[in-house]
Amino acid sequence: DEQAFFAPSFTIREACMQASSFLAELGVMEPRSNVERLLLHVLGIERSAMLRDFGEPFPAEHAAEWVELIRRKAAGEPVQYIIGEEWFYGRPFTVTPATLIPRPETELLVEAVLEAADKLWPPDGAEAPTVVDVGTGTGAIGVTLASQRPGWRVCASDLSPDALEVARANAARHEAAGRMAFVQGDLLAPFAKRGAAGAAPDAEDVRIDVLVSNPPYIPADDLAGLQPEVRDYEPRLALDGGADGLDPYRRMVEQLPSLAQLPRIVAFELGMGQAQDVAALLRNVGEWDDIRIITDYSGIERHVI
Ligand code: GLN
Repeated sequence: DEQAFFAPSFTIREACMQASSFLAELGVMEPRSNVERLLLHVLGIERSAMLRDFGEPFPAEHAAEWVELIRRKAAGEPVQYIIGEEWFYGRPFTVTPATLIPRPETELLVEAVLEAADKLWPPDGAEAPTVVDVGTGTGAIGVTLASQRPGWRVCASDLSPDALEVARANAARHEAAGRMAFVQGDLLAPFAKRGAAGAAPDAEDVRIDVLVSNPPYIPADDLAGLQPEVRDYEPRLALDGGADGLDPYRRMVEQLPSLAQLPRIVAFELGMGQAQDVAALLRNVGEWDDIRIITDYSGIERHVI
């Protein structure tokens, strides 16, 4: 009941405290930081202004929206879908229920791609790579790479047309749209060379120098056991990796020979316990100078590059 966490006489501080304990009692994780993000969103202010105005009355014109947003959070909805935004690599990204919420570990994948690619194509040199971000979702990876390296050509693909629209909007938001292409399709199928099985007859051969992807990788049997915030709100299409979670990697690796040439760099994000299997898949299709596994902040083998 709304009386449980809000009264019109509340100061901003009281509204925050009451909403936090209301959410905490319901077992909502990180109640304090969720409440803070919702408050900044509702009032349209910066954190410094919030701290300054803590003792002011809660603005009456925002009260109804505040009650509604706290209710949505109480029901378990991720705060990023409520406010429509998440930060990634220092930039705000629009998120919708058609897209996965970008995760901080994925910033390490971006970092690893920048480091590896800078060795092959020095940023001040004449050559720049063509990069494909497969399953781009919000465009977090592709838009960030295009923003960090303005000389690169970046193509973002997704099976979901709705996700692709979000990625396009994020590219425009970060002034990278002019240097990016957006392709709807299944994994590497849109990039098959002319004459390859499944290739569009009028397709132009693109040479992919760098393939990066954070595909769905949750084993089908584990979907039901995910945290409710993830399971009930994030798109199934972005999570479900088939029986053992490795379907998207297996299929992408199988599709590599249909490309005009093998990419110089392949960088994948993956789930717990999948790194050795994905590295083995890659070894089967080509000679790589180096296959590196990157461990994330939680000690999980998270990326293969
Ligand atoms: N590439 C997007 C991201 O890293 C989406 C990943 C996904 O939906 N599996 O956020």
